[in-house]
Amino acid sequence: MNLPDRKGHFGEFGGKFVPETLMAALSDLEKVFYSLKSNKKFKAEFDFYLKEYAGRPTGLYHAKRLSAHLKRLKVYLKREDLLHTGAHKINNTLGQLLVARRMGKTRVIAETGAGQHGVATATAAALFNVQCDIYMGEEDIARQSLNVFRMRLLGAKVIPVKTGSKTLKDAMNEAMRDWVTNVHDTFYVIGTVAGPHPYPLMVREFQSVIGREARKQFITKENKLPDYLLACIGGGSNAMGLFYNFFNDKNVRMIGVEAAGLGLNTQKHAASLNKGEIGVLHGSKSSILQDSDGQIKIAHSIAAGLDYPGVGPEHAYYKKIGRAQYVCVTDQEAIAGLKLLSQTEGIIPALETAHAIAYLGKLAKRVRKNSSVIVCLSGRGDKDVTSIKDLV
Ligand SMILES: *Cc1c(COP(=O)(O)O)cnc(C)c1O
Repeated sequence: MNLPDRKGHFGEFGGKFVPETLMAALSDLEKVFYSLKSNKKFKAEFDFYLKEYAGRPTGLYHAKRLSAHLKRLKVYLKREDLLHTGAHKINNTLGQLLVARRMGKTRVIAETGAGQHGVATATAAALFNVQCDIYMGEEDIARQSLNVFRMRLLGAKVIPVKTGSKTLKDAMNEAMRDWVTNVHDTFYVIGTVAGPHPYPLMVREFQSVIGREARKQFITKENKLPDYLLACIGGGSNAMGLFYNFFNDKNVRMIGVEAAGLGLNTQKHAASLNKGEIGVLHGSKSSILQDSDGQIKIAHSIAAGLDYPGVGPEHAYYKKIGRAQYVCVTDQEAIAGLKLLSQTEGIIPALETAHAIAYLGKLAKRVRKNSSVIVCLSGRGDKDVTSIKDLV
């Protein structure tokens, strides 16, 4: 598949909806990125950091007790939770910091909601000795003090955003504003397969190592391809990372799990694909949660990393062409999923990941006997245990 096209379109989705002042910066980035994509030295450098610093390759683990519990499904877990910093986000921030370095940028900025992308960016910035400023809503700063402390410890500056709802979408706006003003020396690190072209392509490229490894590992163990791929969807980067290399394997079914929060018929969910409409957010056209005036709604999920009112344009495209199916799991179901994996396998998953785990129970009810599935275990749950300790 050769999408996106050179303008960044995945069918009707994607593109570049940014102020004129950013068009030059994006086309610079495009030029550099397209040439680095096939540059052997760059690839070798990226691979080096993935391996020696982040801890790749990650295992593909056959979860025997969980599989026995589910009966009809043989479950393999792709262990992104074992990476440095505890989740898949580091794959992307290492890649983007290497691009920034190639472009001679001396400062990186990012927005963060719960702080996970902020921490992953601050980590890579410390590694490569680049100044790092993270925009974060004041509400989120109050809720996520531990991640704020981590970012500061890593040498980053956390800039409080006091506008609007003081959460992720406002932090995104501020980061864009900063980038417009400082593009000469500043690189904008986006945390998921969203944003204007070439970000969805670039982040997919850096995260696709997940599926490349998993595909090989599965074939080695099972001598065939899996029947299903399963991953949770915030912006969609761990899912796209897993899905992408299986795109042409027509018999491999892909399922993305969105956060249904308190329920799809409430206002408190983050189901941008199941409940969204076509619109523009963060510089690209996709499926987003918006009101009748086109104002972005506030998303909700118990998992901070899923709490995003948009989704990467490539997922909107996969949904439209029927290549992937997108389902939903509520906060409560996710907590049950977290307990299930903890108690059957001794692995406490992130609340985000717990959404994918929770869906396994529903999937097991509708599959043929002896079906197999790879679940992207996007992150570990240590960060979440204090926030759920009164709920389980
Ligand atoms: C951020 C995060 C997610 C959601 O982001 P995607 O871009 O959809 O992958 C999922 N899992 C974990 C552990 C995260 O930190």
